[in-house]
Amino acid sequence: MSQEVFQGPGHLTLAMIKPHVYRAGKIGQVISRIEDAGFKILILKSVQLRKEGAEYFYEEHKEKPYFKNLVGTMCSGPVIPMVLMKHGAVEEFRKLLGATHPAEAAEGTLRHDFGEHTNVTNNAVHGSDSNAAAHREIGFFFGRELKLAERVNALDKQQGIL
Ligand code: UDP
Ligand code: MG
Repeated sequence: MSQEVFQGPGHLTLAMIKPHVYRAGKIGQVISRIEDAGFKILILKSVQLRKEGAEYFYEEHKEKPYFKNLVGTMCSGPVIPMVLMKHGAVEEFRKLLGATHPAEAAEGTLRHDFGEHTNVTNNAVHGSDSNAAAHREIGFFFGRELKLAERVNALDKQQGIL
């Protein structure tokens, strides 16, 4: 394995491109910017969230006045969740995101450049805010894939391949 491969807490985060970016046809540009910033994309997919899933993902916000609108917005089209790897991934990716409100985000950040400056809900991309959140959010979107990878590794070990 190359030296660039980091493992364990602190080096992985969950990013998710929001539906309005997909509608604008800009997911490719956002992905390029993430790679240009030195993140390795370990896995990504396109998902149509349902209400229950979006409510679970954003459950810490359930008492907030914007919760219903947030959930509806996240279900309005495909989202692109991905697991990113970099040294200090959570913090580094929050820097690349910029402030929550696109109008307050610094130039050159993803939220400034791809978010809607008049609508904080459409701030282009989500990023985990702690290692614990990254763990939970990666499990939410990629639990099946992780389980499958574990089974493949176990089988490979049994058969002496690993
Ligand atoms: N949000 C919203 N209205 C608000 C604040 C937040 O619609 O007044 C949405 C916005 O899409 C944000 C998400 O809720 O990304 C989660 O809010 P949080 O404060 O956790 O911001 P983040 O961690 O995404 O920067
Ligand atoms: Mg947050």
